[in-house]
Amino acid sequence: MESIKNIMGMTTQTLGGDEKPKFTVLECCEICGEPTKMQEPFLGKEVGVKCRCFREQQEKEEKARLIAEAEYERRKAKTNSLMDEKAQSAVFENLTIDDDNKKYIQAAENYCVHWAENYKANRGLLFYGGTGRGKTTIAFCIANRLINNGIGVKAITVNAMIQRVKDSFRNNGENGETALKAEIKEAALLILDDLGAELKTEWSTCFLYEIIDERYRSGKPTIVTTNLTLKQLREHLTDKNGIPRAFDRLVEGLTPVEFQCRNYRKEQAKANKSDYDFFTVY
Ligand SMILES: [Zn+2]
Repeated sequence: MESIKNIMGMTTQTLGGDEKPKFTVLECCEICGEPTKMQEPFLGKEVGVKCRCFREQQEKEEKARLIAEAEYERRKAKTNSLMDEKAQSAVFENLTIDDDNKKYIQAAENYCVHWAENYKANRGLLFYGGTGRGKTTIAFCIANRLINNGIGVKAITVNAMIQRVKDSFRNNGENGETALKAEIKEAALLILDDLGAELKTEWSTCFLYEIIDERYRSGKPTIVTTNLTLKQLREHLTDKNGIPRAFDRLVEGLTPVEFQCRNYRKEQAKANKSDYDFFTVY
């Protein structure tokens, strides 16, 4: 019956004095027992009152609305992230953890937990190593986790990114290309998957340098996955004048993390500097 007191209290307070005109309860809710209709004491008007069930229902609806809104925003963010459907479905919760991949998964989750610090420090990651070690999946798990936390992420294979930029130029001219490039450059986090699988051309080398360099200079982290060795990657990102500008920029901002194969387990026992770095930077 607290709500009646509230209503009465408010009315009498504004009037002041000892005269306390009373609202008359006309109807009560069958479920919670609180009044749903009352008569005000001045003109005898009937006023509707929200009983507890009504208020609880309203709260429930408001909560559902907020959840739906957040879900809509999340979906929109995922679509805007450039990820395809498969990439959008990669989540830490669905990974099968074994002794081999445990440390990479934990480190990737930690990267998300400490996102604010990593962002501030412009700390990116370079996942490299043979195929089938889960580099791509783990990178997209990072993307989806951060998107769910409201972070602006773009995550795409290098091949698809190049194709999209070319398409946007073909369909919308220079403005379209510029707009897409700006989105890629300005995302809080950019994840470039499978660097090195794309055909190397003068254009692609220049384009990758432009993206990597601008993000580095504006202090925005990038995560790159590649099946190439660091030596191969250096070669891949060397321009026609023999200068590995894009590679230099890349390794300047990214912490290399080698995903080692099961077959090379013995080597894993050796202290690995890049792994060590990875774990000390959250
Ligand atoms: Zn009720």
